[in-house]
Amino acid sequence: MKLSFHPYPLLLRHTFTVAGSSRTATPALLVAIEHDGITGYGEAALPPYLGWSVAEETAVLRRVDLGLFASPAQIDDIMDYVDALALGHAPARAAIDIALHDWAGRAAGVPLRRVWSLDPADAPPTTYTIGIDTPAAMQDKVREVAVWGFTRYKIKVGTATDRDNLRALRAVTDAPLAVDANQGWSDREAALDMIYWLATQGVYLVEQPLPKERIDDLAWLTERSPLPIVADESAQTAADVPRLAGAVTGVNVKLMKCGGLRAARRMIGAARAAGLRVMMGCMTETSCAVTAAALLAPLADWIDLDGNLLIANDPFIGLAVRGGRIHLPDTPGIGITPASGIDINHIINP
Ligand code: MG
Repeated sequence: MKLSFHPYPLLLRHTFTVAGSSRTATPALLVAIEHDGITGYGEAALPPYLGWSVAEETAVLRRVDLGLFASPAQIDDIMDYVDALALGHAPARAAIDIALHDWAGRAAGVPLRRVWSLDPADAPPTTYTIGIDTPAAMQDKVREVAVWGFTRYKIKVGTATDRDNLRALRAVTDAPLAVDANQGWSDREAALDMIYWLATQGVYLVEQPLPKERIDDLAWLTERSPLPIVADESAQTAADVPRLAGAVTGVNVKLMKCGGLRAARRMIGAARAAGLRVMMGCMTETSCAVTAAALLAPLADWIDLDGNLLIANDPFIGLAVRGGRIHLPDTPGIGITPASGIDINHIINP
């Protein structure tokens, strides 16, 4: 069993600005696990504001010895080992988990969504994320992605121009909008006022309005809010779920936060057990990790799976969005193939 990995910076189509940070690329690592002539692919996306680095995740991946196991099909055994070895390095764990799942599906000749009996047609419509920009530039982004047929958008908020930006977007689309403040509001009373105003603007959901550690204030806000409040930064893994029960309406589950598909399924289970609703989300990622996340979209109440569309150098083809709904290829594994003209094995093993 051979584990390979190589840095692959994701070039963003537009400078991506959220409350507190702005960037033009996302560092990432592509991962391959080869065994018996079959290769499964995975990915670790490392948005800098979350504190992970290529150097650190590379060092973690170097410590992983898959020679301890007979086959990548031993996903649970291998991930028990990897999770213990790489505690705190969710993206590296996610990369291996995704590659193992991809390998297992390819080896069995079956799409994973069929193994799990999850039909993408059961997934809710997905959103396309509009980063913070000038009102005119945000309008342009909505017009630009109309070609993909999105029926909902997620708007990044958390600056002094939020209301102007929302009004500008309302001039070009009547689609339902989610907003994501990325912890950008600090005063809970002002946040509540803002949410009441957002509710009059066709907004249906508010993500991470307050700093992640302020669970009591999130509970205060959720109790009074006319809109569902979804925790993202506050909800990294299944272990964060119990203290969020009753404090928020739902949690945003991302493979890069919790450490892969196995961990995401556990987090979704924990959220349901705690009476929480579930959003399936992603970082800026290639079609590899986004397609993997999309496998679980039928289990979610809301989905935000657009990370592959935010980058200019996607080396894979997988998840597609048509009419605002996700479509997954019926190919073995997680459902990805290299993009046309891309020698993916050379990228990972140059
Ligand atoms: Mg978010």
